[in-house]
Amino acid sequence: MKLTVWTYEGPTHVGAMRIATAMEGLHYVLHAPQGDTYADLLFTMIQRDNKRPPVTYTTFQARDLGSDTATLFQQSMIDAYERFKPDAMIVGASCTAELIQDDPNGLSQALNLPIPVVPLELPSYQRKENWGASETLYHLIRALAGPHAPAPGSTRAPITEREAGVRPSCNLLGPTALGFRHRDDVREITTLLDQLGVDVHVVAPMGATPADLANIGAADFNVLMYPEVGDTAARWLERTFKQPTVRTVPIGVGATRDFVQEVAALTGLDPEPVLAGDPSRLPWYSRSIDSTYLTGKRVFIFGDATHAVAAARVAHEEMGFKVVGLGTYSREFAREVRAAAKLYDVEPLITDDYLEVEEAVNRLQPEMVLGTQMERHIAKRLGIGCAVISAPVHVQDFPASYSPQMGFEGANVLFDTWVHPLMMGLEEHLLGMFREDFEFNDDVAPSHLGGKTRVEASVKDPQPSPDGDTSWSEDAEKELGKIPFFVRGKARRNTEQYARDNGVTTITTEILYDAKAFFSR
Ligand code: SF4
Repeated sequence: MKLTVWTYEGPTHVGAMRIATAMEGLHYVLHAPQGDTYADLLFTMIQRDNKRPPVTYTTFQARDLGSDTATLFQQSMIDAYERFKPDAMIVGASCTAELIQDDPNGLSQALNLPIPVVPLELPSYQRKENWGASETLYHLIRALAGPHAPAPGSTRAPITEREAGVRPSCNLLGPTALGFRHRDDVREITTLLDQLGVDVHVVAPMGATPADLANIGAADFNVLMYPEVGDTAARWLERTFKQPTVRTVPIGVGATRDFVQEVAALTGLDPEPVLAGDPSRLPWYSRSIDSTYLTGKRVFIFGDATHAVAAARVAHEEMGFKVVGLGTYSREFAREVRAAAKLYDVEPLITDDYLEVEEAVNRLQPEMVLGTQMERHIAKRLGIGCAVISAPVHVQDFPASYSPQMGFEGANVLFDTWVHPLMMGLEEHLLGMFREDFEFNDDVAPSHLGGKTRVEASVKDPQPSPDGDTSWSEDAEKELGKIPFFVRGKARRNTEQYARDNGVTTITTEILYDAKAFFSR
């Protein structure tokens, strides 16, 4: 095990909490030490929920360890059942509780509660949050829908052979609490399917009750929105209920059109009215004169596998960017990311160590980063523009406005959120070019603030470089400021390297230009 300050995924029981919090009528009893209630904040502070997640913690303390923590667990279950009156419960242990081996499964079954109780075995020391969510969803569906499964060997009539006038129906698999824009994606895809003539039967887990999950097999097929969470359940439903799975993830205009075609082929519906009515502005905006300067921009992409692969396709095919790096922290889906990396001729980066990601960004010097909140921090430190495309999420990833990533409207959102940082880069560059102008120089406040002279202290003395062995004169620092911000970091590092190699301790404007000439040879 490695100690780390930041992590892409939490422990497996946080994955289980994401399922429980997304559902209605389900309660989670978690055998966990006192401090683990911190996880509530993920939902109330980050997702901005107006209620606590449906979780009861046993919250044992150090002094309980010498006595009977098993009784504490059973009492917590009884209390939770009586207080919340859930339709079903899941039970499990957090990382620390796993070590005391109290067997929540056996203890919960011994209570004989009059509702389904689904035990979770989530090995916290080998697996992580998304896997925990996926296993929880799979075990819940299996336990609740399993009793309604058709006899083994029975067949299902093709969807195209349904009665005239009957609309086909599907389940949406994978949207959870704390997912990146899951709430809005569900709305967008439900609308798209409705326009095509398909009803949504159950969204699982988001908004589903245990009774909904029990009845999930009644739909004609499944739409796998987020494979990291829904793939195991989709495969079980395929085997058990013979429900086919639509696997195209509709992120971007091209993928949304492919998704519509895939659903249409499966159901025998006509895709043309929906495709002809495609309201996305992304393709035209990408070709428009304003955007041509964005063509060929170097982007580095990192996230969960689904969003990273989708972002690479959109960046390459729809925005005209150059993908210079592609990676994921979703080890279970590394194969998909490796295959995508081949398409763009880049080395795939499969890691959950953010320092490795930072090193790759530093080395590849992209003009923009598309990543998680972790990459946003990395890009900020390196002075590179960034847009967030994937969990892990932060509070600003739950905007008050409608902002899907999927479907035609999602494509519009992608265009706006990805192009904006680059536009800001251009603006900064122009300000840099006109820095000597009387209106724009650094000592003048913006015109909308009255254009008065700033009172901030200006740089006077030579500024030491971070490693302390070279420093920058005031003139050289000013000159460096004229370089566009997205390459400024590289220019600074190259110049300091050049100065060190040539025994120069103070970098002047002349040294800056000598270094530029040296590195452009
Ligand atoms: S039990 Fe696991 S999740 Fe809880 S504080 Fe310890 S390491 Fe973190």
